[in-house]
Amino acid sequence: MKVLVLNCGSSSVKFELIETSPELMKKNEEHTLAKGMVDKLGEAYSRHVYNADGKTPLMENVPTETHEQAIRWFLNVLVDPLYGVISSIDEIQAVGHRMVHGGEEFSGSIIINEDVMDGLRRCSKLAPLHNPHNIKGYEITSKLLPGIPEVAVFDTAFHFHMPEYAYLYALPYELYIKHQLRRYGFHGTSHRYISHRASQLLDKPYKDLKIVTAHLGNGCSMAAVKNGKSVDTSMGFTPLEGLVMGTRCGDLDPAIVTFLLEEYRTPREVNLLMNKESGLSGISGISNDMRDLEREYEKKNKRAVLAIDIFCYRIKKYIGAYAAAMGGIDVLVFAGGIGENSPLVRERSCTGLEFMGIKLSPERNEGRGEKLVSADDSKVAVFVIQTKEELVIARDTADCILKKERAEKAASVKK
Ligand code: ADP
Repeated sequence: MKVLVLNCGSSSVKFELIETSPELMKKNEEHTLAKGMVDKLGEAYSRHVYNADGKTPLMENVPTETHEQAIRWFLNVLVDPLYGVISSIDEIQAVGHRMVHGGEEFSGSIIINEDVMDGLRRCSKLAPLHNPHNIKGYEITSKLLPGIPEVAVFDTAFHFHMPEYAYLYALPYELYIKHQLRRYGFHGTSHRYISHRASQLLDKPYKDLKIVTAHLGNGCSMAAVKNGKSVDTSMGFTPLEGLVMGTRCGDLDPAIVTFLLEEYRTPREVNLLMNKESGLSGISGISNDMRDLEREYEKKNKRAVLAIDIFCYRIKKYIGAYAAAMGGIDVLVFAGGIGENSPLVRERSCTGLEFMGIKLSPERNEGRGEKLVSADDSKVAVFVIQTKEELVIARDTADCILKKERAEKAASVKK
């Protein structure tokens, strides 16, 4: 099945056309036919990037105002005689949409219909910066690709079954009832993929393992995955909680927020400060990009060293916390741009954890690519895994549609 995966953000759209099916998945033969993105929507020049196997890559800067124009562009390139990979748009059999927030309404991926749309709109209250753009993506594709089944896949769903004691804040309970103030967690498709992939690499049943996953990209989060289920995760009501990130502060004494508000800032400014001016960027005063900080770290720049120290110390604390939450740890996974590419961050996050059976191999920890980086005598297997969120969305989309077709067939046989 050819599935178009769409990730609509506020000023960008990312696309991927993936060939998947349960049979291809079993044979490890799923593949990306083409991928692309348009960003800086509405600016003087929008960047358009397109790549497909065996085709000339395309990169152009042209003004693009709307998400609809961006999606039309990608659909046109897909069927272009020179760049395209399909001969007709009709070859697209389904569309999978990344939805950031499923709130307490969506515990898993679901075929989009009017009822689902109502639920998605209700969830927008919890993610006003994300969900409305995700919904807009659906509104556009349902118009441009009429009659094709479309599926919503949620960032929050993998964490849906966290226990109450892990997701509730110690605020008055009424606030949870009235405003659904609780921890939801994000990056769920990534944590699901990398934890499951680790069990495959280890050749052990997913349901028997205690896995700690660290997705370290621009946004960073960790999860405790016990017996195939997320039982805790570091992001909370919003993606601001938890680890130190590129520009987000992560965990904080909440009294600091009231202090800043009382002293000199408006709620909007405090929000901006915590989301855009903090984290690696705020501590170092240099950059939010780990590559820049590593270069400065080599030169012993004090603030770069401090930023990396704080970043890794927080990861280390979460590894310990999640091992405690699960009553042990069998596997630790690093993923995301930093998790995959920074031996320094992996090494600094794991140093001192030998007491709990985590021991990296300095040789294996160097270099890149999917691999085991723990030493032979490490009790805990430590992996670097390239996350594949789009593939998870494509698989879920195909799965939802095949289940529906099977159910319809069974119902028609009964009649
Ligand atoms: P996103 O969360 O937007 O998908 P990525 O997963 O691509 O982001 O991660 C982006 C981060 O990865 C950047 O902040 C950059 O610091 C880091 N990164 C990318 N390549 C390297 C590298 N070779 N060494 C260290 N960090 C890297």
